[in-house]
Amino acid sequence: MEETLQTFQRLTAFLLENEQQQPVPAPIEPDDLLRTLDLSLADEAVPDQELEARLRELIQHTPKTASRLFFNQLFGGRNSQAVLGDLLAVMLNNSMYTYKVAGPMIGVEKTLLAEVSRRIGYGADAGGTIAAGGSMTNFMAMNMARDIARPQARQEGMTAGLVAYTSAEAHYSIPKNAAFLGIGRQNVRSVPTNARGEMQPDALAAMIEEDLRLGNQPFFVNATAGTTVFGAFDPIAPLAAICRKHRVWLHVDGAYCGAVIFSRRHRHLVSGLERSDSFSFNAHKMIGTPLSCSLLVTQDRKHLHDSYSNDAQYLYQTGSDDWNPGKTSFQCGRRNDALKFWTLWKSVGTQGLEALVDKQFVLADFARTYIADHSDYQLLGIDNSISVCFNYKNIPAQELCTALYEHAEVMVGYGSFNGADFVRLVTINYRNSEDDILNFFGTMERFFEHRAEADPAPPANRAPVLS
Ligand SMILES: *Cc1c(COP(=O)(O)O)cnc(C)c1O
Repeated sequence: MEETLQTFQRLTAFLLENEQQQPVPAPIEPDDLLRTLDLSLADEAVPDQELEARLRELIQHTPKTASRLFFNQLFGGRNSQAVLGDLLAVMLNNSMYTYKVAGPMIGVEKTLLAEVSRRIGYGADAGGTIAAGGSMTNFMAMNMARDIARPQARQEGMTAGLVAYTSAEAHYSIPKNAAFLGIGRQNVRSVPTNARGEMQPDALAAMIEEDLRLGNQPFFVNATAGTTVFGAFDPIAPLAAICRKHRVWLHVDGAYCGAVIFSRRHRHLVSGLERSDSFSFNAHKMIGTPLSCSLLVTQDRKHLHDSYSNDAQYLYQTGSDDWNPGKTSFQCGRRNDALKFWTLWKSVGTQGLEALVDKQFVLADFARTYIADHSDYQLLGIDNSISVCFNYKNIPAQELCTALYEHAEVMVGYGSFNGADFVRLVTINYRNSEDDILNFFGTMERFFEHRAEADPAPPANRAPVLS
C-alpha cells in the first residue's frame, strides 16, 4: 500500500501540474479514443510502471473540472479539505449501513444531517439520509409522498396484475424495489428453494402457471448468483427456459458472487447467464474495489435508453447518445465508479481477477475443512460458496457474534436458513491467507474458553441445535 500511495502522490502531482498548464485538454473524438489511449484489458498483468504511464495519459486527456477554465456544469473546483475526507473514506472503506461496520462514521453522517435539519428549522422529529445523487434523493422524496397519498401502495402496488418472482433467499432490495415501482411487495412471489438454498425451477413454473390462471401478468424473475446468506447460485439455464417460454424478463442478481464470471474454475456456477436479459454484480464485493461499484448490463441496451433517457437541453449539448451515458443512468450527477475497477483490471489482467476470485473459494474450502475436522463445530451451509456457515459449541450464533464484537475480538455476522441460525464467515478478502483463517478460529476459541473459565455456569435456554 505504501508504494501505491507514493504512486498516487506522483500522479496527483502530475495532475495538478497538467491542470495548470493545460486547463482545457484537446478533446478526443470518441472514434479516435482507442487509437489515442490504450484502454484494452488483457489476460496478462502489466508492470507497475506501465500502469502508471497509462494512468498519466488518462489524466492528461481527462477534462479538468477543477481548472479555473471549467464553467460547463453545476460543479467545479477542488476543495482540498473535502478531497482529504474522500480519500480517507476510500482508505477506510466502510459501508454506511450499520454502526458495527461504520462506527463513528454513522455519527459523522447523523451530525451532518441533524445540523442541516436544525439550520432549516426542522423540528425534533427530523431525520435524513445521503444518497448517490439528486435524482435518487428526488426519487426518494416523491416515493415518500406517494406512500402517504396511497398508503396501501407499498404493499398492494398500483400496477394491478403485475407479478415478480424471486427466491425466498433473495436480497431484500427485490421487494423494496417492487414497493418503489408501484408493483407492491405482495406481488413479489417468494419461490421455494431446495436444501442448498437454490431456487426450484419447477416451483417457479407452477407459480407462473397459477398466476396466469388468475389473470395476472408475470413480468420479472430475479435469479440470484450468490444468495446473501448461503452464497447459493440459482440454476440460471432452466430458469431462462421458463422465462423465455412465458416472455418474462430474467434478471440475474450477482451483486455478491457474480464475479465468478472471471474464473474458469467457478463460472459454471452461472452457466446459462448468456440467456438472461440483465445481469448485475458488485465489484466492491468479490473484486474488492472501494465502495461502491455496482455494474448492470442488459442484453439489449435499447431498454436502458427507453427507461432512463430524458431530454435535457441544458445538459446534452454535444455528442451522440452513445457517448452520453446520462441517457441510460438512474442518476444525473454520478460518481466515477468505473476508474477504480478499470485501474485494478488493467493492472492485474483478467488472470489477476480470476486469481482473486479463486482465492476466496480456496480460503472458504480451507475454513470448511477446518470446521469439519474439529468436533466443537457444526458445519452448515453449502460447498462451492464463499459463505462459510457453522455453529460453535452450541453457542447461539447471535450471542457468539455479538460477544466477539463487543469485546473487540473479530467481526463476523450470523444468518439463518429454514429457521436455523448460524455464524456466517465470509472469505471475501483475497489478501487473507490460510493463517488468517486459522487466526479467526483460534481467536474465537480462545475467547470462549476464557469466558467459560470466568463464568462456568451453562447459559440457560439455548436455541436447539439443528441437524
Ligand atoms: C449486497 C447485495 C445486494 C445489494 O447491493 P448493495 O451494493 O449493497 O446495494 C443485492 N443483492 C445481493 C445478492 C447482495 O448480496
